[in-house]
Amino acid sequence: MSEAQVADTASDQQAIADFSTTLRGSCIRPGDHDYDDARLVWNKGIDKRPAVIARCRGVADVIEAVKLARAKNLVVAVRGGGHNVAGNAVCDDGIVIDLGAMNHVRVDVAARRVRAGGGATIGDVDHETQAFGLAVPLGIVSQTGIGGLTLCGGHSWLTRKHGFACDNLVSVDLVTADGRYLTASEEQNIDLFWGLRGGGGNFGVVTSFEFEAHPVGPDVTFCATFYPMEDAAAVFRGWRDYLAEAPDEFTSQIAFWSVPPHEAFPSELHGRQIIVPAGLHCGPLEEGQRFIQPLRELGEPLLDLSGPIPYIAAQQAFDPFFKTKCERFNYWKSLYLDVLDDAAIDSIVARGLNRPTSWTLMPIRLMGGAGSRVPADATALGGRNAPFLLSIDSAWTDPDEGERTIAWTRDFWEEMRQGRNGSIYLNFVGDGEDTEAMMRASYGDANFERLVEIKSKYDPANMFRLNQNIRPRAV
Ligand SMILES: Cc1cc2nc3c(=O)[nH]c(=O)nc-3n(C[C@H](O)[C@H](O)[C@H](O)COP(=O)(O)OP(=O)(O)OC[C@H]3O[C@@H](n4cnc5c(N)ncnc54)[C@H](O)[C@@H]3O)c2cc1C
Repeated sequence: MSEAQVADTASDQQAIADFSTTLRGSCIRPGDHDYDDARLVWNKGIDKRPAVIARCRGVADVIEAVKLARAKNLVVAVRGGGHNVAGNAVCDDGIVIDLGAMNHVRVDVAARRVRAGGGATIGDVDHETQAFGLAVPLGIVSQTGIGGLTLCGGHSWLTRKHGFACDNLVSVDLVTADGRYLTASEEQNIDLFWGLRGGGGNFGVVTSFEFEAHPVGPDVTFCATFYPMEDAAAVFRGWRDYLAEAPDEFTSQIAFWSVPPHEAFPSELHGRQIIVPAGLHCGPLEEGQRFIQPLRELGEPLLDLSGPIPYIAAQQAFDPFFKTKCERFNYWKSLYLDVLDDAAIDSIVARGLNRPTSWTLMPIRLMGGAGSRVPADATALGGRNAPFLLSIDSAWTDPDEGERTIAWTRDFWEEMRQGRNGSIYLNFVGDGEDTEAMMRASYGDANFERLVEIKSKYDPANMFRLNQNIRPRAV
């Protein structure tokens, strides 16, 4: 395939103008009053200028957008919630297929099934499902889009009990590169359904997801105990040792952070470096309270926000610090850890004490549970067997801090990668890191080869390549 074109000829401009009249949604172009707002994504570090942003209102709009991209050979970016840190939801010069208006959610209470639009957020789904005491395992910041998240896995407070978001998929509707509208499930387009559960946005534009939902809440037990960073080594070891026997009901992460300067926290703690064993127990409240108690006694807490809270509140607990259009520059990397021995803990603690900025967050997620019991070849998703996931979510406010912060992040990641195969969680990926070696390590050879087959069948010209890209054989 020839390189995708920049939409700058008179013929391109005419095609875009014609296209705009076919949409039920709207078309935003450079010079329009809302253009600069529409091209923003969550990561402040991303500054791209598409030729056209197609705000789709339904499947027909998506088909038209794909047809235009094909006819004019345009670079295509697909935008769900715009939270991908690498900025894949926007592009220079080409077309953004923006699904933000396709955020409908319909709950079939009796069947415990949920149908959600390709541009819905976690909050949209939580809002509708919790009205019926149900939940879909998605992720832990409610403004995040379910599109990118589900297609690359989706790790939430419910993963140890109910698996990754993609494990809860029943079917997926999508528009493929040739403009066809397909349903993928265990009965139809089975190969595609396998690939969509972990293979990212490589196969087309998902217009809706159908999930299985589970009874959760309305109240759950939340754990969030803030300990001083000076106690990090002991708290971290205590968390690891205690959770060796954790029930599936408890999903947890331990995070290195600084108390944000926010009214939710006592002002005397603002900026204080902390380590926080956090988690959510989705079983009976008394059981949850009893289970988390030792995590609240791993040292002398500075603050303890643990206790029973509505599931919706737990899902929104971090929202104020990760606003929809972020004020901060971000660069993230992740690494699955096969062991978390004392040496690994010491290395992470040393880095935790020397984070480059106060906004840099380092969560270590406890994996295992239901997500790890799905066979590795049942879906495309990799990394299921890893017991821990380290994520380095570096963030800064002053552009001048970028170079140093990114260098620190890469250096830390390289240090931790020594002796490991470099398998990462593809939802936590920095810009320009989707090398074939990294993708292979993350999926495993067998799943990677199968993904290449499916990609070659459904998107042989690699129209959908602004993602954690699986290159088709022909390209
Ligand atoms: C604050 C924050 C918190 C997060 N928390 C979690 C978490 O708890 N658990 C977790 O697993 N991940 C988490 N993530 C990572 C998140 O899963 C990814 O950033 C993901 O890409 C977000 O999806 P999105 O739809 O918002 O992405 P976008 O930026 O809109 O899209 C990213 C890519 O996904 C694909 N895509 C999106 N929607 C569609 C669609 N409908 N059809 C086809 N392709 C599509 C496209 O390839 C696109 O390039 C978090 C990210 C942030 C910024």
